Amino acid sequence: MMKKEAWLAPLTSVGIGGACLGIFLPKTNEELVDIVEKLQQQNLPYKVIGNGTNLLFSDDFHPFFVISTRKIAKKMSKKDNFVKLSSSTTLFEAYQFCMKNGLSGFEKLCSIPGNIGGAIASGASCYGCSIFDYLEKLTIFQRGKIVEIGKNKIDCGYHHSEFLKNNFLSPTVILSAKFKLQKDQPCKIQKTYLNICSKRRLSQPAGKSYGCTFKNPEGQSAGFLLEKSGLKGQSCGGAKISEKHANFIINSDSARFEDFEYLINLARKKVEENFGITLENDVEIIK
Ligand SMILES: Cc1cc2nc3c(=O)[nH]c(=O)nc-3n(C[C@H](O)[C@H](O)[C@H](O)COP(=O)(O)OP(=O)(O)OC[C@H]3O[C@@H](n4cnc5c(N)ncnc54)[C@H](O)[C@@H]3O)c2cc1C
Repeated sequence: MMKKEAWLAPLTSVGIGGACLGIFLPKTNEELVDIVEKLQQQNLPYKVIGNGTNLLFSDDFHPFFVISTRKIAKKMSKKDNFVKLSSSTTLFEAYQFCMKNGLSGFEKLCSIPGNIGGAIASGASCYGCSIFDYLEKLTIFQRGKIVEIGKNKIDCGYHHSEFLKNNFLSPTVILSAKFKLQKDQPCKIQKTYLNICSKRRLSQPAGKSYGCTFKNPEGQSAGFLLEKSGLKGQSCGGAKISEKHANFIINSDSARFEDFEYLINLARKKVEENFGITLENDVEIIK
């Protein structure tokens, strides 16, 4: 169950990250809870990750274990207009399941490459739609117990949730989530999905990335501020600020963490100089 070659780069969409103490790839939620309990009993630090699409690990050694949920069996069930999804379910799988069952909600969100656990922890949103618009309750493993918690009890918002404040010794683990969706015709749901896909293709670059680098400041677009600061096309080593969308940095040629760090700092400094606005990271950086 634990991989000996504990390199983090292959577990991330940007393809960067050094080694860690060990990587666990459980196949069920029961196995996941078992691993977490054992690590907690021994006071060993760990981080639970989803599809690794919002993470930038440094190339250094990371003194903690990583538990990836990507191999956990996906469980999806439906009752009326409620669906229950295991945290390992990708947003795209959630969309397919819901669309077939005539339930609207995931057709915009599914263009985000994360899974349910990662999307909730990172407060995923796009095209005016947030994962929290539909969330009803979560099943979590916290302080040694599996408990249910209603959305109204969770501190969450735009690209933020209380789960990101996780420390490395006893982080809360999201096991599954229940959503309340709206009934609609599958063909209409599919049409919205296809529209969103073409919007993304037109405005965002392909290539290895973690999505947007910075959050949008209130009422503004980080991409616009970066573009107006002349950052498109700037590069460092194997990393390059996309010509298509200035909030994306692409790992175009075996980039190192330092290449990304240089461009992130440069971009923040330029926007500060030009607009007096300090951009906040959207990507989670773990040094
Ligand atoms: C091409 C591209 C486009 C993107 N577009 C968007 C976009 O439009 N909107 C947007 O919001 N994001 C976007 N992202 C960023 C990213 O896909 C989202 O933030 C996504 O929700 C992260 O999910 P993940 O499963 O990859 O989580 P990870 O990156 O694996 O983890 C993110 C955080 O969640 C925590 N976590 C993961 N699973 C659990 C769990 N089961 N229990 C507790 N904590 C957990 C991790 O510890 C980490 O802190 C994009 C990324 C890419 C590569």
